[in-house]
Amino acid sequence: MIVKQVPVRDIIETNAYFYIDEKSKHGFLIDAGAEAEKLLKIIRDNGWTIEKLLITHGHFDHIGAVEKIAKTLNIPYLAHENGREYLPNPTYNLSAFFGNDIVLNNAEYLQDGAEITLDAAPNVKLKVIHTPGHTQDGVVYYDESNSLAFVGDTIFKRGIGRTDIPGGDYNQLQQSICNKIFTFLNDTILYSGHSEPTTVSAEK
Ligand SMILES: [Zn+2]
Repeated sequence: MIVKQVPVRDIIETNAYFYIDEKSKHGFLIDAGAEAEKLLKIIRDNGWTIEKLLITHGHFDHIGAVEKIAKTLNIPYLAHENGREYLPNPTYNLSAFFGNDIVLNNAEYLQDGAEITLDAAPNVKLKVIHTPGHTQDGVVYYDESNSLAFVGDTIFKRGIGRTDIPGGDYNQLQQSICNKIFTFLNDTILYSGHSEPTTVSAEK
């Protein structure tokens, strides 16, 4: 698998990730927070086909370019079912605080434990693991066979997500990290929304 981290910035810098099957050149884009044109150019330049756009949680800095990219590529965007509270709601997705409302009404919603399979290579799949605490709709997209996971703002290199925002809950975040992420194999690479990659063992 190819994993390409691309920092994008509107108000703050957030990592977008391309997760691409080398052979078919098909894959997913995880968290398109801003700079739609830059992300679309990378897709074109590499000859990739993005089948779906995956959202780790419904905060403005992770969803700001979703609508533009989903429309341009004519692909669906997916988020945890609790994202119903965040994606269409500028107060909950925090975009209202910056005077540029984001309202996403057309997400496909996922349940904990769902698997997202790549159409072009059905052996490539990501498991949806609900990890609330930073938000109520936080998920990790976990590729167990390649020992990697996209963790959004649940955990960072030497840090954890904020919980002082709507839907934040410190105890819940601690449980999501200790009871879910820390059960992955120690050498699992964690790709977060706002830091360099890290590993389970390093954060334990
Ligand atoms: Zn966030």
